[in-house]
Amino acid sequence: MTETHYTDWEESNKSFLEKTISFAKAVLTGKDVSQERIQKRLEICSGCDLVNVSPEGLMKCGICKCKLKEKGLQNLARYEETPGYGCKHPAGSQWKKNGV
Ligand code: SF4
Repeated sequence: MTETHYTDWEESNKSFLEKTISFAKAVLTGKDVSQERIQKRLEICSGCDLVNVSPEGLMKCGICKCKLKEKGLQNLARYEETPGYGCKHPAGSQWKKNGV
């Protein structure tokens, strides 16, 4: 294994851990947003310059790689934003900017 691979592996694990901790905090301390707000968030994400869309049409945030969907526990669009959780667009939260 080369040093580059090790670094990639390390970064990948760090990212996974950060995502897991972030979701755990959102689930334990966060509140669900309304279905209407989820829909609006998904509309915003679908037009975002940083979103990744799979061939099946499933969206993931291009920054944190979290899933963005209508339902489900592991769903970035589901919970109220906190200082450590939510849209991390470099220009600021696109959800907050749009009031959702
Ligand atoms: S940066 Fe924000 S708006 Fe863009 S895909 Fe991620 S969560 Fe959605």
